[in-house]
Amino acid sequence: MKLTFSAEDEQFRQEVAGWLAANLCGEFEPIRFRGGPGDEHSFVAERKAWEQKLAEGGWTAIGWPKEFGGRGCSIEQQVIFNEEYARAGGPGRMGHIGETLVGPTLIAYGTAEQKEKYLPGIRAGKDLWCQGYSEPSAGSDLANVKTKAQFDEASNQWVLNGQKVWTSLAHESQFCFVVARTDPASTGQKGLGFFLVDMDQPGVTIRPIVQLTGTAEFNEVFFDDAVCSAGDIVGAPGDGWRVAMALLGFERGVSTLGQQMLFQSELDEIVKIAKENGAANDPSIRQRLADAHIGLRIMRYNSMRMMSGGEDGSLQKEAMIYKLYWASWHRNLGKLAMDVLGPDSELLLEAPYELNRLQSLFLFTRADTIYGGTNQIQRNLIAERALGMPREPRGTA
Ligand SMILES: Cc1cc2nc3c(=O)[nH]c(=O)nc-3n(C[C@H](O)[C@H](O)[C@H](O)COP(=O)(O)OP(=O)(O)OC[C@H]3O[C@@H](n4cnc5c(N)ncnc54)[C@H](O)[C@@H]3O)c2cc1C
Repeated sequence: MKLTFSAEDEQFRQEVAGWLAANLCGEFEPIRFRGGPGDEHSFVAERKAWEQKLAEGGWTAIGWPKEFGGRGCSIEQQVIFNEEYARAGGPGRMGHIGETLVGPTLIAYGTAEQKEKYLPGIRAGKDLWCQGYSEPSAGSDLANVKTKAQFDEASNQWVLNGQKVWTSLAHESQFCFVVARTDPASTGQKGLGFFLVDMDQPGVTIRPIVQLTGTAEFNEVFFDDAVCSAGDIVGAPGDGWRVAMALLGFERGVSTLGQQMLFQSELDEIVKIAKENGAANDPSIRQRLADAHIGLRIMRYNSMRMMSGGEDGSLQKEAMIYKLYWASWHRNLGKLAMDVLGPDSELLLEAPYELNRLQSLFLFTRADTIYGGTNQIQRNLIAERALGMPREPRGTA
């Protein structure tokens, strides 16, 4: 297991830290540490401008091959970038869905035209994307999608009808990747297509869903005769499941060590408050603070173990436990924050009565064990794919 980075990687770390120190300041100072999960509604215009600043510095799409405008960075370097980004208080990335999900999928499965049409806008930090997978009856069971895509010979376009739900940042995105049924008679994983859809058209309606935190970061999206051109299906009609699953595979663990820096800053704030308000004198709180610290260490070593994968840059199977572990840890941290705040956690003390960082943390961490795969589904994946246990009974679609 690699516990240290090479000298060359450490030099790369200096380069990243230096660029961030020189650029994440001035007009961008207010967005430091802002815009993460639960705070996505903050400083949207400034964070969009920041995406383009990053692009100018060559710090978007750093994991993409150079021929597609990326930096061709190794997994270690991507981890270092994410670590330094979080340490410097880099704001929540508006472009992450395009950069980490759509880009790699198009590079692997897209046509030359699709790469040329979409990759430059993502790399430049100008085109934002959202993920149109979930539907009212297809969350964990993605193969149950009902949205239909019908090819219209006359206009040489696909026509989409149906509804998506929980679509994060749809209201800020130019494009959405949509899984829809190309064969109306099909069920399950067969007969699906993977479409690249322009959100700025009459057939697309976006309706915000207000969350526990009082803000609306995700949406319902309705397609009523929405269209996309014949060239905007990735892979063959009917082969969308394979592309959709490959995209999920790109949600790899390279941002994990960076995420831990953010978690550390949250834990530091909770410890500081516990010392100030006396909560740290309570033995059970002290124990939970120590457990939280230990949990962070475990995450770090597991991330290092994941990175000690094959020469091809693949991650070890331990990667499968990561989502379950961090989501549960973070949810518990949210509860701990409330107990440290004590009765104040229930109050909004002064106008404009916005949630403070820890109240927002508590409420948003309720979603951590749901998005990106629920805890229950993660346990199934670990059992079946990592441990080789028998598959749970599934329908015969
Ligand atoms: C903050 C947030 C952002 C999101 N952003 C997006 C987005 O941008 N795009 C998008 O497409 N989706 C998004 N989602 C949706 C998310 O992917 C789904 O909520 C998730 O996949 C769960 O699906 P579901 O809500 O339909 O729950 P269901 O699948 O209905 O599950 C309900 C419960 O049953 C359990 N369950 C279901 N099947 C099994 C099984 N086989 N074995 C054991 N337990 C099971 C689940 O674990 C869960 O506890 C987001 C969700 C959240 C909370």
